Amino acid sequence: MKEEKIELIKDGKRLSGRGFEELRPIKIDVGVLKRADGSCYFELGNNKALAAVYGPREMHPRHFQNAKMAVVKYRYNMAPFSVDDRKRPGPDRRSQEISMVSRKALDPVILRELYPKTAIEVYVEVLQSDAGTRTAGINAASVALADAGIPMKDLVSSVAIGKIDGEVVLDLDAKEDNFGEADMPVAMIARTNTITLLQMDGRLKKEEFERGLKIAMTGCRKIYELQRAALVEKYSKSGNEE
Ligand code: ADP
Repeated sequence: MKEEKIELIKDGKRLSGRGFEELRPIKIDVGVLKRADGSCYFELGNNKALAAVYGPREMHPRHFQNAKMAVVKYRYNMAPFSVDDRKRPGPDRRSQEISMVSRKALDPVILRELYPKTAIEVYVEVLQSDAGTRTAGINAASVALADAGIPMKDLVSSVAIGKIDGEVVLDLDAKEDNFGEADMPVAMIARTNTITLLQMDGRLKKEEFERGLKIAMTGCRKIYELQRAALVEKYSKSGNEE
């Protein structure tokens, strides 16, 4: 439901006070869930996402097994209390689509062929949402996969760009997403500049798209450094006793 249009940029600043190419504050905690093989809590501004990874473990039902490689299952779910109005619990078309594109964003880095016939299960729970939940989920899932010890070529990092009041900006919040002209989530393997997810809601001119993609890629590189630092911090602690 769209409310009445509001001004998103005033005196050259976004409503939040952020610059056009500035990310929201990020917080990453690795290994926060004891029962999961790997887990990560990821905060992006007012988004709070939790990822849990299980596996590789036997694939059920067995007819979904792939004899050559592991199958990655990804379930994105938004908690009923994660939005302003209570969200109807359970899967819907949006969460199914986000689950699919998120899985595809991560598939290329996972060395699936090492674990034929198994499932690698990724669960992402959004506890609080403020636009950008799929990107927060992918960032969390990527770190949780590494925490689970799943062999990967690299991490995947994700952030959206968008257009608000005619300006291309990084990392839209919910107001900007709601009242803006375009929203374009991107995921990439930061070290190789390989894009693994690119979606677009709204319209961008060619030049805006190109600039936006560059800004998103720079954002992904910053997130990559934070993901790495969070993993290094956890695994440089003595013995990793959990
Ligand atoms: P993303 O969260 O990845 O940006 P969308 O663009 O679909 O995905 O959603 C933008 C934001 O809209 C969400 O982060 C959330 O704050 C809000 N939103 C999405 N679905 C619902 C819903 N069913 N009820 C209320 N708010 C929602």
